[in-house]
Amino acid sequence: EHPVYGRIDGAIVIIGFGSIGKGTWPLIERHFEYDAARLVVIEPDPAQANFLKQHRLNHMQLALTPDNYREVLGDLFKDGGFCVNLSVDTSSLDIMKFCREIGVPYIDTVVEPWAGYYFDTRDNAERTNYALRQKVRDEKAANPGGTTAVSCCGANPGMVSWFVKEALLTLARDTGRDATPPADREGWARLMQSLGVKGVHIAERDTQVRREPKPRGTFVNTWSVEGFIAEGFQPAELGWGTHETWFPENGYRPETGCRAAIWLDRPGAITRVHTWCPTPGPQFGFLVTHNEAVSISDYYTVGAGADPEYRPTCHYAYHPCDDAVLSLHEMFGSGRQQSVHHILDVDEIVDGIDELGVLLYGHEKNALWFGSRLSNAETKRLAPYQNATGLQVTSAVLAGMVWALENPNAGIVETDEMDHARCLEVQRPYLGPVEAHYTDWTPLQDRWEHFPEDIDESDPWQFRNVLAS
Ligand code: NAD
Repeated sequence: EHPVYGRIDGAIVIIGFGSIGKGTWPLIERHFEYDAARLVVIEPDPAQANFLKQHRLNHMQLALTPDNYREVLGDLFKDGGFCVNLSVDTSSLDIMKFCREIGVPYIDTVVEPWAGYYFDTRDNAERTNYALRQKVRDEKAANPGGTTAVSCCGANPGMVSWFVKEALLTLARDTGRDATPPADREGWARLMQSLGVKGVHIAERDTQVRREPKPRGTFVNTWSVEGFIAEGFQPAELGWGTHETWFPENGYRPETGCRAAIWLDRPGAITRVHTWCPTPGPQFGFLVTHNEAVSISDYYTVGAGADPEYRPTCHYAYHPCDDAVLSLHEMFGSGRQQSVHHILDVDEIVDGIDELGVLLYGHEKNALWFGSRLSNAETKRLAPYQNATGLQVTSAVLAGMVWALENPNAGIVETDEMDHARCLEVQRPYLGPVEAHYTDWTPLQDRWEHFPEDIDESDPWQFRNVLAS
């Protein structure tokens, strides 16, 4: 009943067996033909050893480092394979470069640096996702083509880029325009421009809960706590659109690279924005930096550089699960990280969904949310060892792997640059309800009016109105 999408010869190496690695493995098992003896998991945490042993998975209990990654991976990939990087603290760029050097396809879900980078780097501009992404784009420009390496192919970054395209086609259809998918990047950018889209929120509401209240001193989340803390401490960042008339006082523009984004001198996880999702309606989200905020603004640019003809604003507007909101509150309030980290397990979650979509705004129908509203209950029926958040990520990894096998010489790509229809075809059986919702909500609505605010009432979709004071 599960389609097998292709054969992987050589070794399949899964780097990192946390919430995403553990959930990706059963999808790989289900959807590819390969020699099970050649699947290897690299995972330093001894807590995973028993699971790996019980499931007869080859386990190398070590951490990849700048000193050992070439040797370890070079040995494993002697006769090819596929590198699936789902770890924290390993350099996506270094591993991707090495895999391409030896002709091994590669995929990851984030541009991750080596351990220490997020906290030990003093210069905030250096800690941005803009800087991390630009290095991958520079590598692509310097070495075009060659073995496929898919960069940032999770739920977001990842799947949401495919949703943007579906949402654009939906909007074109619903406004009586030609809804034929454009053939190239310029065509997609022109389509977004012609539809009058001013910007995109990656608008997410995670309502997954367990019965036990969050204990003090524990950071609870539905995916990597380490990953979330790291990105939450990075500066808030957003793709900066051509419709913006105001500029934040604490904002900085990059001087090199694609120049599609700006960053704010403030951590993303305490920077709130007004946004909208189908379940709650209006809500606060956190402006946590993400690769897709830069990549989407870059991809849909008409023109180039710092002053293009058209560019959408784009940023994450994330309401994590309620326990994660409390965890952030506690962490930022106390000035220290909790010593206990906990990822909610599929079996302890008693209710909730991960509602993750793209909110395209500023056009003639005001705003359109398009996304997945996957529940934890449905996730249990669809695939083992993961919650709803996990499955949205792992099924995107699956889709990216299928695309890479079908396009083995595409070079370094981001998900904006892949065939979104093919990827969603593979992923959709795992996404629960995928829905389009129009709303007449704007950031000027549903505010508390007792205190003056620095907003622009003449133009609802200015970032100045989206940013919460
Ligand atoms: P996790 O914290 O549950 O697991 C990460 C694993 O990496 C851990 O088991 C850890 O022991 C292992 N690890 C740490 N250092 C390592 C090293 N040097 N070498 C090998 N393994 C190492 O995280 P997760 O929730 O599984 O997320 C994994 C990655 O996926 C993170 O980078 C996260 O940011 C990313 N992610 C992306 C998305 C997306 O939608 N794009 C969503 C969720 C997670």
